[in-house]
Amino acid sequence: MNQRELFLKHVAQTSDIPFSGIDLDIERAEGIFLYAKNGRQYYDMISGISVSNIGHCHPKVVNAITEQSKKYMHLMVFGEYNQSPQVKYAETLCNILPKELESVYFTTGGSEAVEGALKLAKRFTGRREIISFKNAYHGSTHGSLSVMGDDYFKNGYGPLLPDVKHLVYNDQSQLAGITTATACVIVELVQGEAGVRTGDPDFIKALLNKCNETKTLLIADEIQTGFGRSGKLFAFQDYDIVPDILTIAKGMGGGLPIGAFISSQKIMRSFTNNPVLGHINTFGGNAVCVAAAQACLEVIVEQNLSSRANEIESLIKNELKHPLIKEVRIKGALAAIDFGNEELNMRVIKKCIESGFITDWFLFCPTAMRFAPPLIISDQQLRDALKILKKVLDSES
Ligand code: PMP
Repeated sequence: MNQRELFLKHVAQTSDIPFSGIDLDIERAEGIFLYAKNGRQYYDMISGISVSNIGHCHPKVVNAITEQSKKYMHLMVFGEYNQSPQVKYAETLCNILPKELESVYFTTGGSEAVEGALKLAKRFTGRREIISFKNAYHGSTHGSLSVMGDDYFKNGYGPLLPDVKHLVYNDQSQLAGITTATACVIVELVQGEAGVRTGDPDFIKALLNKCNETKTLLIADEIQTGFGRSGKLFAFQDYDIVPDILTIAKGMGGGLPIGAFISSQKIMRSFTNNPVLGHINTFGGNAVCVAAAQACLEVIVEQNLSSRANEIESLIKNELKHPLIKEVRIKGALAAIDFGNEELNMRVIKKCIESGFITDWFLFCPTAMRFAPPLIISDQQLRDALKILKKVLDSES
């Protein structure tokens, strides 16, 4: 069997065939590029789904991983050891965040951060109802799946969490659904998988007010929007709000798997009793991953990559025009290029990949193509990548 056959046999597949049908056998990745074994170069225009915000194999991240792995990799988590890479990272991050977000629980990725955040809200409030929004994506584990705002992807997995309500996003009249029985509302300030739908500032403000009025915790899920992608370090900074709990992952680790949920000491303390050890994991805050996250955050801040995301947004708005494009919804360096036609979108995506431009679509918006390049991309590289896309679109016109 060749490697492709072995891949299809032994590496679990969750669709009939990997979408592109192209054998993407990547040997190495650097900056915004992936290099296949056959020597082909690909523009990574989705950053491994909003992970490689500082590009692939950033030297500072590689160095941090190397240095930390020579010291220690895994000890034991959940607070038994005072691990300097964890403490340093938590301090660095909390110093950037509003003062209420002062206590970091490290997880292994995004879904687990959401699980932890939902559990924490239930424990702190003593309530059991959870509210999320239609077309929301928060992960694929049972709890995070329960708050997903799409029925197709939940099909067959019931029973999921009881007492979950899904409200219509950006519709203030729906906020009456939040009551004193609600433990928390989990929200993406920019709905990613819905195809980049930005929260209306008045709606988000009204949501916060309603949460305050009913003493419901507000969880901002910034797993996809965080670490500069939205044009701010975190999208909530664009709104005049501070969430009670913030979930992060993806772009956090500079390519290594790590996530976190962050809250106040007061809220986080509810995990310490009745029962003690309110959330448990083995690998959360792994020293090597945290060292990578530290280096990654330093790069984002030093190079002001959040502002770079805004420049990317302007360039895309000004230069990405084509008769086949019905709408470009964009927030920072996260864009949905919507063709209003699923078949066309899938053909364009396939042709883009064949032409050396990695992209995909959105789970709840199959008519739109995802565009989320590493924030370190130069204007010239961006224009070169757009040329590939335009050529593909011309071939469809
Ligand atoms: N929340 C949001 C907003 C996400 O975009 C994702 C991943 N696409 C998740 C949660 C789940 O993260 P993970 O895949 O790391 O479990």
